[in-house]
Amino acid sequence: MSERQARTFLTNATVVDGDSIEVHQQFTVIIEDECIVWVGPSAEAEAPGAADTEIDLTGKTLLPGFMDAHVHLSSTGGLNPASTLHEPETMGIYRGVWNLGVTLDAGVTMVRDLAGTDYSAVLAVQQGLVRGPNIVTAVSAVGPTAGHSDFRTLSVPFGYHAGRDGVLPNIADDVTEAKRVSRELIRVGAGVIKVMATGGVWSPRDAPEHVGLGIDEMHAIVQEANNRGIYVAAHAQGAEGIKNALRAGIKSIEHGYLIDDEGIELMLEKDAWLVPTLTTGTTPPDPKKATPYAVEKKNRVRAQLQENVSKAFAAGVKVALGTDCGVVPHGQNLREIGLMVDLGLDPMTAIQAGTSSAARLLGVHETRGVIRQGMIADLAVTSINPITNPHGLGDPANITHVFQAGKQVK
Ligand SMILES: [Zn+2]
Repeated sequence: MSERQARTFLTNATVVDGDSIEVHQQFTVIIEDECIVWVGPSAEAEAPGAADTEIDLTGKTLLPGFMDAHVHLSSTGGLNPASTLHEPETMGIYRGVWNLGVTLDAGVTMVRDLAGTDYSAVLAVQQGLVRGPNIVTAVSAVGPTAGHSDFRTLSVPFGYHAGRDGVLPNIADDVTEAKRVSRELIRVGAGVIKVMATGGVWSPRDAPEHVGLGIDEMHAIVQEANNRGIYVAAHAQGAEGIKNALRAGIKSIEHGYLIDDEGIELMLEKDAWLVPTLTTGTTPPDPKKATPYAVEKKNRVRAQLQENVSKAFAAGVKVALGTDCGVVPHGQNLREIGLMVDLGLDPMTAIQAGTSSAARLLGVHETRGVIRQGMIADLAVTSINPITNPHGLGDPANITHVFQAGKQVK
């Protein structure tokens, strides 16, 4: 008789499976190797064998491991970019290692990094060299000269400049450059292409209301991405740039803070995703750390975004969870769920935005994002009731266990 792999039995749990709207009481989930092999009422489950591990989850809720579709792992939230000029560039790697750990502890088992993190982080997690969620990375972001990805400085303190220029491709000013830069990003390991469809808060020469790349440039990038089986996510805050991105065929609208009625219609028509990043959008800027232009732009957008995003939610736009952590500190990523509920999503839809919906956006829905037999066992356990207290998910102390591919990692 062949010996069977030791299994893990998660028993007596309340299960929110990420897919159905039903909450399952007194359920058992059996994990073997990296997969879920059985889900059902505890009364119908087989008894664990002598070699198996049982974790009694009485009073706790088991959910799919969450996904955050918008992070920047290599930066630490709230820092003025100028304050890091006197640190070696490799500090971003150590920041990334730390941020990966606190993100996993927050209940997040997969992230999409939308600029700042190179392909080595993807490999390091895959190879088990660091603990952290699985990563899809954009590596860098493509924008126009003087746009939201153009942080080149006009001078350097005391005339010394030991830094490296142009390490990551991120500026494109016509269709040919847009194609070249996208191909270059694919070469260095991008699993999604990030573009700047509008200006933003932190960039020195533009504003959220300004348009970024043109429709023709973004359309060329969409074609390059689609040719390689990937897709494009657009930083898009102002109303015109959002519509430009949608008309160029972009699937994933990041922020969307100033979206108008026509933009909402277009999102529905194009079946595009909104990643509203309310965690960052609603956080007031710290005038001690942020430059005056950033404080002014942030406050202007913050005053308008809740009304616009609520309208998009009410219209039934597809929503995936994303925080923009890196602009704010990492490790409380699931605060986003409570913030989405505040703007009108029901708690179950907000949870699904961070599980099955995010999995569809990230293209991993066949293996992740739902608790079902045959899926990879990426799971999170909470001590609170996530339906009646969705805000409670945002406190990592309320996330008691995290499983990644069947292994308990918290
Ligand atoms: Zn971002």
